[in-house]
Amino acid sequence: MRVAERVEDIVTSGLCTGCGMCESLLGSDTLRMDLSPEGFMRPRQIRTLSKADEGAVMQACAGHRQVGPEPVGIEPHRMFGSCLHLAKGHATAPDMRFEGATGGVLTAVAAFLVEEKLVDAIIQIGASDSDPFANEVRFNTTREEIVASAGSRYGPVAPLTQVHAALDSGKRFAFIGKPCDVATLRNLAKTDPRVDRQIPYMLAMFCGGSPSVSATHNVVRRFGEDPREIAEFRYRGRGWPGPTFVRTRKGTVHRQSYDDTWFGDLTFELMFRCKICADGLGEHADLVGGDCWVMEDGKPSHREMGDGWNIVIGRTTRGAELAAKAVEAGYLHEEPFTIAEFEKMHDDHALKKRSVFWRLLALTATRQPRPRYERLRVAEAGWRNASWRERWAAFQGTFLRSVAGRNRESGIGSGSFVLEETRNDIEKPARGGEPHAA
Ligand SMILES: Cc1cc2nc3c(=O)[nH]c(=O)nc-3n(C[C@H](O)[C@H](O)[C@H](O)COP(=O)(O)OP(=O)(O)OC[C@H]3O[C@@H](n4cnc5c(N)ncnc54)[C@H](O)[C@@H]3O)c2cc1C
Repeated sequence: MRVAERVEDIVTSGLCTGCGMCESLLGSDTLRMDLSPEGFMRPRQIRTLSKADEGAVMQACAGHRQVGPEPVGIEPHRMFGSCLHLAKGHATAPDMRFEGATGGVLTAVAAFLVEEKLVDAIIQIGASDSDPFANEVRFNTTREEIVASAGSRYGPVAPLTQVHAALDSGKRFAFIGKPCDVATLRNLAKTDPRVDRQIPYMLAMFCGGSPSVSATHNVVRRFGEDPREIAEFRYRGRGWPGPTFVRTRKGTVHRQSYDDTWFGDLTFELMFRCKICADGLGEHADLVGGDCWVMEDGKPSHREMGDGWNIVIGRTTRGAELAAKAVEAGYLHEEPFTIAEFEKMHDDHALKKRSVFWRLLALTATRQPRPRYERLRVAEAGWRNASWRERWAAFQGTFLRSVAGRNRESGIGSGSFVLEETRNDIEKPARGGEPHAA
């Protein structure tokens, strides 16, 4: 087994999550996050990295190492991790529920944290005002700003680029990001004690993977529009799941259903790192929100359901208490939800967990580096729970991809993304989830 030890190795081997922690650690005059030729956020080298720089990044980078959470006093679910608190729920405020990707739970909890002065600001991302496909880091201090950042952004995002600036401010924050972003922040907490003191709440959403920006361009092109002429783009939200929405600069509007976007003939490429992800359900976070799909014929339905419902998981005592306090204060509404319902609804994520071990084995067999996973039950899930069919599919898929070099990406010195030059592999998401590792 080989673990990548240098930033260049992490990026070229397709192990970078694109979070931007390396820029935060070393400064943008050394590494700067930029859109790579593959259409992902990747560090671009501005100055040569010293050995000390590489060491500092490796201590935090989830492409190098990801260690699951400390035990919280209950046996973790073998696929879904520890659920100290499990419920279905939604924001009580209609605007938050409407604007939210699902039921607006993450938005409502963030608003609660700020309005109750439990933190000074929320570190979260939102769509850039100048580029509808780009995202920017925000330090939101008001309900209005938080609601304006609601919704899921499927594409390049680097939410951790300004963590050190936040810590240097001496203020207290909550962070919202993908499970891998939170894992990286937890890594940083091991070497920088300010993280636990100043970022007491870490919130995550379920994540089936992040596609390249070319996915979004392809959605736009399918409507016969030029990505350069787009003023507004949303994958979902404003309803549940809400239509994919495109508005051109000239004011033409296009909409299509969630299933037409994710399960039609969409051509997109998922980050390779997402295909070998060991935690799509935010095991490192304090509180997690996902889709609590309505089940039809034993399967999650993505029909428009109007008002959204989230699954809400408290992973830590602090997260479980946070959910309870947000309910008590009237920000959240919750109802019972069982592990058995969870298992039926999100077997796509269980399949992912069962497959990782075999994907990593294929990387080892093809002499490719991989992240070091600990305390995430990867081997256990692969050995005990994966069928032989699943094992073979996962191993073979990654083996062939790796032999063909399709896990590889351009390095940290490479140029920026150019619209016409994207690689467009056909990837079909697993039914039931979102852009999952195929
Ligand atoms: C890439 C991606 C993949 C997903 N895959 C799944 C899945 O497989 N199954 C599932 O049930 N749900 C998935 N979701 C989550 C789902 O879309 C909702 O985000 C989740 O249910 C929370 O809903 P909410 O209404 O509480 O969120 P909201 O209240 O709308 O809050 C969403 C928060 O997430 C932040 N955010 C949005 N996009 C990103 C991003 N790319 N990186 C970092 N922060 C971001 C926003 O700033 C906001 O704070 C995915 C989301 C993303 C972004």
